[in-house]
Amino acid sequence: MFFSVYPIDSNLPNILLSSNSFGTISLKQCPHCPYSTERSSNFKNHMAVHTGERPYVCDVCMKSFTQKGNLKTHLRLHSGERPYACKICQERFTQRVHLTTHEFKHKRFV
Ligand SMILES: [Zn+2]
Ligand SMILES: [Zn+2]
Ligand SMILES: [Zn+2]
Repeated sequence: MFFSVYPIDSNLPNILLSSNSFGTISLKQCPHCPYSTERSSNFKNHMAVHTGERPYVCDVCMKSFTQKGNLKTHLRLHSGERPYACKICQERFTQRVHLTTHEFKHKRFV
């Protein structure tokens, strides 16, 4: 019989097992749903969906919103900005849905 004992197990370095060296990238995982993101700002936005928190507050009327974009749209009501114009009578509207409703009136009378 032939016996050969190599002490491989005891001499192997351990570093290969813990190669968690992605550095600055730390994925944030939502505990409530499969959502995950690398950006903490995105994560904060997303968490508002679950907590019901509305971090974006209008300075003028104190109405609050979950998303920054929604607040931006809302602020047009106060600023008077009306980006949606009727092609027929040039009347302007703050929101696309208002313009759509308005244009529908023109179509009915044509
Ligand atoms: Zn979530
Ligand atoms: Zn407001
Ligand atoms: Zn019009």
